[in-house]
Amino acid sequence: MQSASEILIDLRQASKSESALQISLSDDFFTAIGQDEISGGHLAVNILVREQAYECFVVNLSVEGEVTVPCDRCMEALVMPIEAEGDVKVYAGDSDYVTDDDVKTPIGGGYKYDLAWDIFETTLLSLPLQRVHDIEDCNPEMVAMLSREDDEEEDD
Ligand SMILES: [Zn+2]
Repeated sequence: MQSASEILIDLRQASKSESALQISLSDDFFTAIGQDEISGGHLAVNILVREQAYECFVVNLSVEGEVTVPCDRCMEALVMPIEAEGDVKVYAGDSDYVTDDDVKTPIGGGYKYDLAWDIFETTLLSLPLQRVHDIEDCNPEMVAMLSREDDEEEDD
């Protein structure tokens, strides 16, 4: 049983498979990975691995579902839909030969690669910069307080 914060795949084995690996992630993943931008969610992730060249793998991630983030205006939970896709390049050979920052290497060598952080980043980068409720869904007390603050600033 692997821990909730790790999504280990065997690159070589996965690259030989015709079909995508499918995993689902829920709240405990976002807690276990150690970040505070996304507080929870449910994601279905498809992982397709190709060996592009000897020991060079391209991992295609497609992520769908929803995540919970704090609303930028009222700070309360805001559920946002996610539909994202991204490629991760992983070189499983001697990491001394890797000079490109975009190319990842498995920690400790071998073909076992932890995708957890790549899945998190793909999800996070797909979120809009402005994450707010529709104004009528925002916490009304917070909205009232914020508009009072705006008024005070205008008085200065
Ligand atoms: Zn809000």
